Amino acid sequence: HQKIEYEPYRKDFYVEVPELAKMSPEEVNVLRLDLEGIAVKGKGCPKPIKSWVQCGTSMKILSALKRHSYEKPTPIQAQAIPAIMSGRDLIGIAKTGSGKTIAFLLPMYRHIMDQRPLEEGEGPIAVIMTPTRELALQITKECKKFSKPLNLRVVCVYGGTGISEQIAELKRGAEIIVCTPGRMIDMLGANSGDSKCKTVFCDAPCAQVMRIMDNVRPDRQTVMFSATFPRAMEALARRILSKPVEVQVGGRSVVCSDVEQHVMVIEEDQKFLKLLEILGHYQEKGSVIIFVDKQEHADGLLKDLMKASYPCMSLHGGIDQYDRDSIINDFKNGACRLMVATSVAARGLDIKQLILVVNYNCPNHYEDYVHRAGRTGRAGNKGFAYTFITEEQARYAGDIIKALELSGSPVPSELEQLWLSFKNQRQAEGKSIKSSSGFSGKGFKFDETEHALAN
Ligand code: ADP
Repeated sequence: HQKIEYEPYRKDFYVEVPELAKMSPEEVNVLRLDLEGIAVKGKGCPKPIKSWVQCGTSMKILSALKRHSYEKPTPIQAQAIPAIMSGRDLIGIAKTGSGKTIAFLLPMYRHIMDQRPLEEGEGPIAVIMTPTRELALQITKECKKFSKPLNLRVVCVYGGTGISEQIAELKRGAEIIVCTPGRMIDMLGANSGDSKCKTVFCDAPCAQVMRIMDNVRPDRQTVMFSATFPRAMEALARRILSKPVEVQVGGRSVVCSDVEQHVMVIEEDQKFLKLLEILGHYQEKGSVIIFVDKQEHADGLLKDLMKASYPCMSLHGGIDQYDRDSIINDFKNGACRLMVATSVAARGLDIKQLILVVNYNCPNHYEDYVHRAGRTGRAGNKGFAYTFITEEQARYAGDIIKALELSGSPVPSELEQLWLSFKNQRQAEGKSIKSSSGFSGKGFKFDETEHALAN
């Protein structure tokens, strides 16, 4: 970097409107509390905004927001947007479905519109990184809602498809790249051309992000968003961010109150019948995801459901990338309404008509439970989550009880009983009771077989 002379650029675009400027610190505290309890760390964070006009975005963006019925900022947007607009590095933590994507898109557009137009072969100005191809496609879609009216070009870059096409697309020029880190690293190797990149947005960051950061100018603006903030990510944040503000909404991620949660202590050989019973009840009402722990279980259950005359698809890391695309499409457009999936494959899926999630295999840590249940109850719709737990899985009961409690759901007495007898037994054996890993704040864990998905 020392050898390169970077064009100077402007980062701070934020002008506080008088209505906010005259608010006292006490009034700001009350406002933050009203916005689901926004917690802010770091010096000099702007006050939260109350409406879109207060963030100082363009008319074209305002009308796009209106067109898509985004009436007012969600809590994470209200606080993160003015902070990013004012040029700050930021860590944003808020549960899935809380609107993190737009929280970084709007300041990003403001920033890009301030730059001179790209010349031939130059690009991109902003890079958005996200761990899976599905999230990359989802963010690209959200991004295009605004880039079209602004005449900006977005390219989505991910593994599993031909790299040469994606390079060709990039060479034609794009202000914004949405990418998975693995493929981005390959692209950097293939084309160490003239990067104009000034802003980087990481959605659910992972360790690979570091390799890409080293290729971006040191005075860049960097923003990280995630649903959880595990310790490993803290270390990463310290290395790539400079004097960040930290914005957290709603403490640790919890299942949204629009999801009605049921947990059943059940024998392994009773599960399938119970599942059919539940499906009979909900299938007419919307789409359904059934979560299993392993690829082979996904395929096994798929066969059983087909035999029971439930048309169904399965989604997991062992499925060819192209097929995964069409599976997700069919599921989104309602062509098929029943899907068996592993957690990682369904990470970040946003499907409005999803009415029901069934945890056919019990999630093995807090975050996984919250993530799976959070696929339903999106954007204010009501959803249902059923979880099967066997006696052999008693060690996971503690995390599930915690998740129920934190989201204000009743804890079934049989579940409480299961956890109690597990604890008593451990104590009798003189062993310590560790709640599973997620409890101590560890984030999403990749299963070995599924790790490839993140690339
Ligand atoms: P996250 O990244 O936090 O999981 P998303 O950014 O995917 O959440 O947003 C979840 C859903 O909410 C999306 O369907 C999105 O279009 C919608 N959404 C985002 N912001 C708003 C808003 N201000 N008002 C209404 N809906 C919104």
